[in-house]
Amino acid sequence: MRICSTRDRALTVSLSQAMQQGLAPDGGLFVPAELPHIGLPRHGVTTLAGTARTLLAPFFEGDALAPRVPEIVAEAFTFPAPLRRVQGDPERLSVLELFHGPTAAFKDFGARFLAACLARIPGDGRPLTILVATSGDTGGAVAAAFHGRPGVEVVVLYPAGLVSPLQERQLTCWGGNVRSFAVQGSFDDCQRMVKQAFADPELRTRLRLNSANSINIGRLLPQLCYFGAAALRVWESEGRAPGFLVPSGNLGQAVACVWARAIGLPIGEIVLVHNANRTVPDFLADGEWRPRPSIATLASAMDVGDPSNMERLRFLFPDAAGMAGSLRAVSVSDSQIRECIRAEYAQTGLVLCPHSATAVHVYRSLDPGVRRETHWIAVATAHAAKFAEIVAPLIGGTLTMPPALAELATRPVAHEDLPADFAALRARLGTT
Ligand SMILES: *Cc1c(COP(=O)(O)O)cnc(C)c1O
Repeated sequence: MRICSTRDRALTVSLSQAMQQGLAPDGGLFVPAELPHIGLPRHGVTTLAGTARTLLAPFFEGDALAPRVPEIVAEAFTFPAPLRRVQGDPERLSVLELFHGPTAAFKDFGARFLAACLARIPGDGRPLTILVATSGDTGGAVAAAFHGRPGVEVVVLYPAGLVSPLQERQLTCWGGNVRSFAVQGSFDDCQRMVKQAFADPELRTRLRLNSANSINIGRLLPQLCYFGAAALRVWESEGRAPGFLVPSGNLGQAVACVWARAIGLPIGEIVLVHNANRTVPDFLADGEWRPRPSIATLASAMDVGDPSNMERLRFLFPDAAGMAGSLRAVSVSDSQIRECIRAEYAQTGLVLCPHSATAVHVYRSLDPGVRRETHWIAVATAHAAKFAEIVAPLIGGTLTMPPALAELATRPVAHEDLPADFAALRARLGTT
């Protein structure tokens, strides 16, 4: 399969090249030049890994990594994505749990898959350096995914004092090939320093830099697999296509779910659920794209006012009306998030993180007729225990850490302090 830039269909590369480059040279995002039509797979769909092998094969066709897809999948998909029916629900609500990986959020799928791919793309003698700026969650997933891989150095930049204690632990507990820099500045400073590094000729000669950030196409492909696997499970048992309620921020999940439907998997409605950052719901309402600064909410990993993956959605749906006909988008407030976490626990025993609660809130507020017609799947993007300070008071109880997070709490932590200055970063890179 050829991969092209969202800004130029004629600018094509292989999938391996797209994963190595991250961003297209013209500033666009990499997308499949044409999506394959897979339709309903007949075999190999009983497990998530089996589904992933079947669904990903056409994306890797013609790429040097094609023969290695089975081992990449085996290495990346080592934890499940269970689809659980909500107890006591008279209609059909299921929750797709994407938080059983090492850092208890769905970003583990993308980060581990990309790590498994990059580790198998031959280098050129320069060490591979993964340089990532994080406001909290992404950096932990990337560090976990690349930790312990020979020939790779991971450098994580986070704003000192501006991430939660649990997030800081996830960024600083690795050691070995992972270096964590607490930058004396904001997240924007971290991002600026990373961008400067990518633009620096001296560093680029010395190191093979990759950002492994969420606009990398290698992070979206594995996400398509769990949407597909969940849809096939409902299709096989009930003969109908489920609808998805997708907590959304930078729209990576949205793109993965739309791609899964576009390649022929049985997916009905896709509803993008945003927090108070309403850029996307407003766009689908009036066709005007008005990016804005982000607003802080309880569902902080979705605090995005200018989602980069909109460029991929617009590549698929060039006109706004067409997009509005294929997707819905809604906005959920902090008070609705709080109320949903509280009520859902009281009524069904379900414990939700603030992000996952946005999706369940939308399900509960659907018209009862619409609710009955479809088997709805609310996507649970993170484990509630990651946000215990918000969730515990609302449910009036304590939360049990999943084993992976509990294990991180036992590790020693270490970080290096860094001024918010690119020259200081450059001097420290490649010097371990
Ligand atoms: C990143 C994230 C989201 C938003 O996903 P996008 O792909 O950026 O739209 C939602 N929930 C959690 C917990 C996340 O970490």
